[in-house]
Amino acid sequence: MEKAEERRPGFLPPFKHFATQAIHVGQEPEQWKSMAVVPPISLSTTFKQQAPGEHCGFEYSRCGNPTRDCLEKAVAVLDGAKYCLAFASGLAATLNIVHLLKTGDTIICTDDVYGGTNRYFRRIASEMGLKAIFVDCTKLECLKAAITPETKLVWIETPTNPMMKVIDIQGCADIVHQHKGILLAVDNTFMSAYFQRPLSLGADICMYSATKYMNGHSDVVMGLVSVNDNDLYERLKFLQYSLGAVPSPFDAYLCNRGLKTLSIRMKQHFRNALVIARYLESDPRVERVLFPGLASHPQYELVKRQCTGCPGMISFYIKGNLEHATTFLKNLKLFTLAESLGGYESLAEHPAIMTHASVPKAEREALGISDTLIRMSIGLEDSEDLLEDLDQALKAAFPDYKVRN
Ligand SMILES: *Cc1c(COP(=O)(O)O)cnc(C)c1O
Repeated sequence: MEKAEERRPGFLPPFKHFATQAIHVGQEPEQWKSMAVVPPISLSTTFKQQAPGEHCGFEYSRCGNPTRDCLEKAVAVLDGAKYCLAFASGLAATLNIVHLLKTGDTIICTDDVYGGTNRYFRRIASEMGLKAIFVDCTKLECLKAAITPETKLVWIETPTNPMMKVIDIQGCADIVHQHKGILLAVDNTFMSAYFQRPLSLGADICMYSATKYMNGHSDVVMGLVSVNDNDLYERLKFLQYSLGAVPSPFDAYLCNRGLKTLSIRMKQHFRNALVIARYLESDPRVERVLFPGLASHPQYELVKRQCTGCPGMISFYIKGNLEHATTFLKNLKLFTLAESLGGYESLAEHPAIMTHASVPKAEREALGISDTLIRMSIGLEDSEDLLEDLDQALKAAFPDYKVRN
């Protein structure tokens, strides 16, 4: 029975059987002669054939690997998808998706997008004969107006990084699918499969940097792509083995293991993040908190409509100036000052100087990435300890501040 406290009022109900499927689908012991309960790490690059062309499903490890197969089957079902393909990194997954296009095609990308995606579209794909245009897809009318006969791919990410803007996936899908031959891809890295199912909201492609929440232990770099359409799957499968950006069997094993605790991890990230977001929101040393799980988030209604909850990503503006921000970050003891996100450990960073330094200053400012913006990935530690750490770092940044009463 679903405990009342597990249900956040107004959010989509949790996806049924999620934890059970994460643990069992694709992991059946019967697939191995040894009946191993935990899928073995299959390191062999090649597989014996009975007669030329007569094999048992595997030929060469780039094209298919038993350990990777277990992971792909589990992720597909968690995404409510028919198929999943694993890649060497999130960006390798993006690269493979973009290879579905040809010279002269246009990509419409939402404006506040992962820095590496922005760099790949602007500096590499555009050199290969593709056109990339950037549009604020939180405004559906802007997306609608940007579509031309050359548009072949619409790329969105929600919530965005680090501004936590939320995009209406169903709304985008409805617009995109009024036209023939345009694919809608959603980078679902921040939400993970536990909180958001883009395919059931009308997207054609659900993509992850599994480096973040899906693996969740900050020890694997990987990408995942889930789809429902048979033809799209065949084309992506062809690209997967033709381009060759596949993950190692060991990484596939680790990520598959990470999935076994995805549901309990995400619930705890949400709980901890809510406690911290509420604390920061009520603190006079904080200007503003950006967290999609707070009622103060401008798109809270949309968040509740398309998500089952929120991950541990919180951005906030500290009061004062750059010096307050850096003093705060330098004084954190439990939070680690580092890039990346989605692991069990809490991290904090300064987007303008760290993750988003490559975004030109004028563009950063237009997006709201100022010198006082701080981004945190809330981990799985005890929330009291995290609060204590934040409080002592705020005290260091504001030594003259006296807590009233
Ligand atoms: C990290 C990240 C990526 C890139 O993934 P890699 O695994 O680092 O290649 C893409 N999108 C988002 C939202 C990310 O956070």
